[in-house]
Amino acid sequence: MSISQLARSIKESATLKLNETAAILRDKGEPVIHLGGGEPKGRAPIDAITTASSMMVTGEVRYSPADGIPSLKKAIIRYTEECYNRVVTPANVIASSGAKQSIMVALQTLLEPKDEVIFAAPYWVSYPEMVKLAGGVPVVVTPEDGTFQPTIEEFAALVGSYTKAIIINSPNNPSGVMYKKDFIAELVQFCEKKGIYLIMDDTYNRLVFDGQAPINCYEFAKDFSEHSKLIVINCVSKMYAMTGFRIGWTVAAKEIVQAMTNIQSQQTSGPATPSQWAAVGALTGVQSSIDGLRMTLENARNVMIARLNMIPGVKVVKPNGTFYCFPDFSAYEKDSAKLCQMLLDKVRVVTVPGKEFGMDGHLRLSYCGSLKEIKEGVERIQWAIDPNSPNELYLGDRKLVRDWA
Ligand code: PLP
Repeated sequence: MSISQLARSIKESATLKLNETAAILRDKGEPVIHLGGGEPKGRAPIDAITTASSMMVTGEVRYSPADGIPSLKKAIIRYTEECYNRVVTPANVIASSGAKQSIMVALQTLLEPKDEVIFAAPYWVSYPEMVKLAGGVPVVVTPEDGTFQPTIEEFAALVGSYTKAIIINSPNNPSGVMYKKDFIAELVQFCEKKGIYLIMDDTYNRLVFDGQAPINCYEFAKDFSEHSKLIVINCVSKMYAMTGFRIGWTVAAKEIVQAMTNIQSQQTSGPATPSQWAAVGALTGVQSSIDGLRMTLENARNVMIARLNMIPGVKVVKPNGTFYCFPDFSAYEKDSAKLCQMLLDKVRVVTVPGKEFGMDGHLRLSYCGSLKEIKEGVERIQWAIDPNSPNELYLGDRKLVRDWA
């Protein structure tokens, strides 16, 4: 067998692997609670379904242009105007098969071998592997103060002659924290000044809580010309509960979009046409589902944080967006992979080890499931780790006895 060095250097996606493990255990009838998921449970908006199905019943499902069908690009342009107050042209827009492909193709477009890309821990699991796949070197900022808010000084300290880009994801997967507006403003200007590309991963931009407005990174950019360093990534996946449709997009300077289109045309061609029509339906249809999802998630966040705060020694920063939180369990176990495995083995709760996001001692917990699952999931976690818990716990009619320290 001859597997390339590059392929051997790439890790499997921890989150996708955990989804598989949970599905296998559930198929065996195990009472699994999945707090590791990365997708809202609701249905896709009706406008997405009807628009895609009316295209599909014609039976004529053809290749799309490599950068997306004109109707989707038009809908993205409208979205950019409405949500970011920024007027862009079709030459600034490329649709891809999910935000994941958008980020990957953007990196392939920018990086020369050994170029460095800086991002802050905790970071989305895929960034380091994507940077490596594109031939670059990942460089990680680790904010020290436990708030998960990086500072401009921490980024500036790592900028060197090989720095090509910075990736920012706010609100952040896994911490759920929305970075401070002043920080984003400073970073946009810093990157412009230094000639560094800034990839804004706005996957969760609309999923913010407590009545806060989403942060608009364009507000701080001088102008969106050919020389703009700002590359903004979005998708329908999370805000419309359309993860399986696989549609994301990039808005960037024309040259970047043209180069990305060339790569994509050789890599996958345009995204699946029915999915693009579904995205058109979602973006141009009734928007109330986003408010509904936001309210559901905010309530679920409150329930999860209140329950976590009942576990002595567990520290958690209250998220102000997404559907994740990133509690610190190091008072009980510093090795997050070990803790995650123990919780799955002993109490059948799926979590994601913080190690995968660049911060050991933490677990990523999702609150996109039902309130019942959230409460019971955290209860089971407490039972497994807190030595002051009662000796017995029932999972349905199965009695568990705590026989570990
Ligand atoms: N960026 C972040 C921060 C994510 O959390 C995810 C998905 O989990 C993506 C990008 C990828 O989104 P998509 O499913 O549209 O590829």
